[in-house]
Amino acid sequence: MAINTTTDWIDTVTCPFCGDELASPGAGFIDHIDENADCEAGFEHWRENIASDLAGEWSG
Ligand SMILES: [Zn+2]
Repeated sequence: MAINTTTDWIDTVTCPFCGDELASPGAGFIDHIDENADCEAGFEHWRENIASDLAGEWSG
């Protein structure tokens, strides 16, 4: 599993983008965004923000 656990919402069982209930935290969310393009887009955007945050820390 390569899911980043530094977020505070990954432990929840609701989608942070639409509020839908997930089958399970983490893996259930991946299944969820697979079926919900809007949530997937939101997740991609969030992940890019995290990546740029980390890159900024690492280069500084
Ligand atoms: Zn959702």
